[in-house]
Amino acid sequence: MNLPEDPVFHADTLAIRSGIERSQFGEHSEAMYLTSSFVFDSAAQAAARFSGAEEGNVYARFSNPTVSAMQTRLAALEGAEACVATASGMSAILSLAMAVLQTGDHIVASTGLFGATQQLFGNILSKFGIATSFVPATDLNAYREAIRPRTRLFFVETPSNPLTEVVDIAGVAAIAHEAGALLAVDNCFCSPALQRPLEFGADVVVHSATKYLDGQGRVLGGAVAGNKVVTDEVFKFLRTAGPSLSPFNAWVILKGLETLRIRMDAQSAAALELARWLEAQPGVARVYYPGLSSHPQHALAMRQQKSGGAIVSFDVEGGREAAWRVIDSTRLLSITANLGDTKTTITHPATTTHGRISPEARAAAGIGESLLRIAVGLESVEDLKADLARGLALSKSQAIPECRS
Ligand SMILES: *Cc1c(COP(=O)(O)O)cnc(C)c1O
Repeated sequence: MNLPEDPVFHADTLAIRSGIERSQFGEHSEAMYLTSSFVFDSAAQAAARFSGAEEGNVYARFSNPTVSAMQTRLAALEGAEACVATASGMSAILSLAMAVLQTGDHIVASTGLFGATQQLFGNILSKFGIATSFVPATDLNAYREAIRPRTRLFFVETPSNPLTEVVDIAGVAAIAHEAGALLAVDNCFCSPALQRPLEFGADVVVHSATKYLDGQGRVLGGAVAGNKVVTDEVFKFLRTAGPSLSPFNAWVILKGLETLRIRMDAQSAAALELARWLEAQPGVARVYYPGLSSHPQHALAMRQQKSGGAIVSFDVEGGREAAWRVIDSTRLLSITANLGDTKTTITHPATTTHGRISPEARAAAGIGESLLRIAVGLESVEDLKADLARGLALSKSQAIPECRS
């Protein structure tokens, strides 16, 4: 059954049915192929497989049926020609950079990228003579002005982490293409359930599958999906350099994709309710959530996203002390930097996810000491409110927080 080619099926169906190649046993749930290599019928077949004259699996660093199934399903959901799965989100971004860039090339990237992505561009690729200009995420002129003769890649994340700034994908795509460069979008926060960047002109999408695609905080994974000319280059890098996705992780993500849309809808609805509630709380200075009409790019967000997503950030009154007090007063929310789980998480970006970037870069990105980020899960919103209300009330009264149970 090869569904993704068939235009009749909707995304909800593709999420459940695409990528399935049943074995001779007729299993209903997708099989997991935990094998690192594959056997051949003959020496001649082995030679043909290795030379590429015959299609088929050779070695799991290159391909594995479970990984292929996950790639097919994610490509179908993103509306992509092809998809290459990787061991993590960071290895997806690294593989893309290694595939399309060489020494002397230049990247234009939005500020407010995931902390490790900023370090990869700013501290690692720079060692190999690949420079990056970081520009304000929402300023289209800044993208245009940053172009250099060797600009090959535009890289944006929307909504951004943790401030949920929304990048105009179609606007940046037009600027990138005018410059003869590619546009890559990190679609981690929305997932294809809420946003399909390729429809707005992006050339490739990168994913941390660790987040919503798995959706239950179990495995690491990543992917590059989009234009086949680009993903073919990514595959050439991956099969040689080896940041390949394990079949076990691919299987977990494959099954995660089946419930992606209903999870994203439910988590977004809860996030909107929580964001509205936070906006009305006395100890809260500002709420960052694209689904709120107070968000500066609310109209743009509603054009390119189905909803606001599941990440809500907010500034409390009182700096780091007050922010940490909100965290330390929770009993239900998980104090962890991960996101994209059914379990709601809370983090202090300035001292965790964004702790290793320079204070200047942090200030430029608007990530202050009073900022908290919540990744809303699937618990009762009433319970989440109660858990946060305790710390917000304490922020005001300076009372001593109760111990975390
Ligand atoms: C987590 C994350 C990454 C990196 O993914 P890993 O799977 O942790 O390597 C990249 N981009 C964004 C937006 C993320 O949240």
